[in-house]
Amino acid sequence: MIFRLDAINIWKNKEVKERLNWYYKVLKNEVKAKYLIVKSIELKENLNLKELEEKELWKIHSELRNEFLDKFEKMKNGKNIEIKEIDKNNNNKNNFLDVKIELAYRMLSPCKFCENLCLAKRLEGEKGKCGLDNITRVASAFLHYGEEAPLIPSGTIFFTGCSFKCVYCQNWDISQNPKNGFEINSLQLAEIEKELYDKGAININFVGGNPDQNLHTILESLKYFNENIALLWNSNMYMTKESLELLLDVIDIWLPDFKYGNDSCAYKYSKIKNYFEIVSRNHKIIYDFGENIIVRHLVLPNHLECCTYKVLDWISKNIPNVLVNIMDQYHPEYLVLKFPEKFDEIARRLNYEEIKKAYEYAKSKNICFEAIS
Ligand code: SF4
Repeated sequence: MIFRLDAINIWKNKEVKERLNWYYKVLKNEVKAKYLIVKSIELKENLNLKELEEKELWKIHSELRNEFLDKFEKMKNGKNIEIKEIDKNNNNKNNFLDVKIELAYRMLSPCKFCENLCLAKRLEGEKGKCGLDNITRVASAFLHYGEEAPLIPSGTIFFTGCSFKCVYCQNWDISQNPKNGFEINSLQLAEIEKELYDKGAININFVGGNPDQNLHTILESLKYFNENIALLWNSNMYMTKESLELLLDVIDIWLPDFKYGNDSCAYKYSKIKNYFEIVSRNHKIIYDFGENIIVRHLVLPNHLECCTYKVLDWISKNIPNVLVNIMDQYHPEYLVLKFPEKFDEIARRLNYEEIKKAYEYAKSKNICFEAIS
């Protein structure tokens, strides 16, 4: 906070406060973080979740979702709802979080976490396109002061592995080399979350690489973590609808990347298929669920017409009330730096004209970006 005065001043901005209203209330300790509400919703009967079919688990998930939404809406509207603290050591009853964890483990093998849908049997040690089996690795965890003003100091946890193969990735040493981190289980992850909380983080920021690939360990860690702090999901948004279902009731604030305005640029630079349909679908789902969102759009050189304008057009039409961070810090990294002639379109920084045009276009579309970018 000492280094970033804007982290305090940002909350004087009415639009930011309105668009991040739930997150702000968690920061101020006026409401409970969503994952604590999720944990307070217990199953009526004592069921052995491991014995149930996946279909049945989803049915229970949707019933408990209704209960969750009831409590969540009341809390959002200022009603004083009592949230029972669940002490797992003295309580064997399953709750909504346990159902989510069980579903995540079912989806892990064959893996259906992201739309690569490579169906790797991760529990049996098979690795998917993301380079991961069932083991989660963390490369680093620290208080991040470089994130957007409303987020700092952010308790950031960098997971290894990613569903994308971006040729310009600035975290390529962990996204493309999953072995680079240290192995952790869910209990150890909860200890990291607690340590970040104790050090003064105002959110727990799950990032990577990409966090989606580690959904099972992250959800399970929340069993052992009980602090009232906002959870933040910083993702490339290529997860399946099912993964998103598990996250919707748990995450307080989203920091999604929306990079490309079309599929051919996405394939050329990230080796990803059906990018636009999947990533726009997922943005729309979280928006319609009423989530607090800061969309990150990284402007690429020579990609204004095909990507930046298309992404901004889509945002203004479909999710107009989000905050957008238009990022102008692109610089050649990783494979682009190594083979500039192969990726000549993006083998330079942005020029002043491109940055100006991106900002002007966002303004013309009434996109709320100036406080954040
Ligand atoms: S998370 Fe990894 S293993 Fe699972 S579908 Fe995606 S790329 Fe494949």
